[in-house]
Amino acid sequence: MTFQKHMRLIIIGPPGGGKGTLCEHIVKDYGVVHISGGDLLREEIAMGTPIGLEAKDLMEQGRLVPDEAMIRLILNRMQQKDCVARGVLLDGFPRTLSQAQALTRVGAAFDGVVVLNVSVDALLERALGRRLDPTTGRVYHLKFQPPPADIASRLVVRPDDTEERQRYRIGVYNKFRDQLVAHFVGSVVEVNGNQPIPKVYDEFRLKIAQRLLDKQRVAPTNPTSKL
Ligand code: AMP
Repeated sequence: MTFQKHMRLIIIGPPGGGKGTLCEHIVKDYGVVHISGGDLLREEIAMGTPIGLEAKDLMEQGRLVPDEAMIRLILNRMQQKDCVARGVLLDGFPRTLSQAQALTRVGAAFDGVVVLNVSVDALLERALGRRLDPTTGRVYHLKFQPPPADIASRLVVRPDDTEERQRYRIGVYNKFRDQLVAHFVGSVVEVNGNQPIPKVYDEFRLKIAQRLLDKQRVAPTNPTSKL
């Protein structure tokens, strides 16, 4: 199967919704550069840059890094050679409406904004069945990835995996998703995340192919635009 190269995508999905696995498939098959907001910040911290120094404390407290620094970081990364040549998959950015508006303001065009839809019940089932092995740091799931019987008794629930915390995170995400969908209306590609991952990926491929066809019919892309 052949895939279009140079795609520019944004992906959003709820916490624990399988977005990471979907990203791995997309990067492998479409050759795009995976740009994760969190990874970029961790690189800045490791290099001891001013943005890294500013981000470190905020990240440790679970707070968002200021939009301005974040936007600068992402736009710089998107203009590097590999991204221009291969296209990008933005993951974890934008995380606020003003970050989304900044992308639009500088004329950054995207082939699609992929929204992974997962039901609240499925998200709760995934989060509440998770167990951490404190000895190895490995994470299991009682139903989907059961631990070996000999270590089952030492597994613990992570403090963050309570129903209350998970519902709160889903609520925050839903609000942000609605804002983003409204902002990128017309470019949104919704994918049903309540299915096994191969089916999720098949649906993504079909819908993104359709979206690219529709786009070509409406307007040719600007080949000189780096963003
Ligand atoms: P992640 O690896 O996506 O879980 O991100 C880790 C942390 O990096 C977050 O908790 C935030 O503190 C910060 N971060 C990542 N992406 C963004 C973003 N788009 N805007 C602001 N802060 C971010």
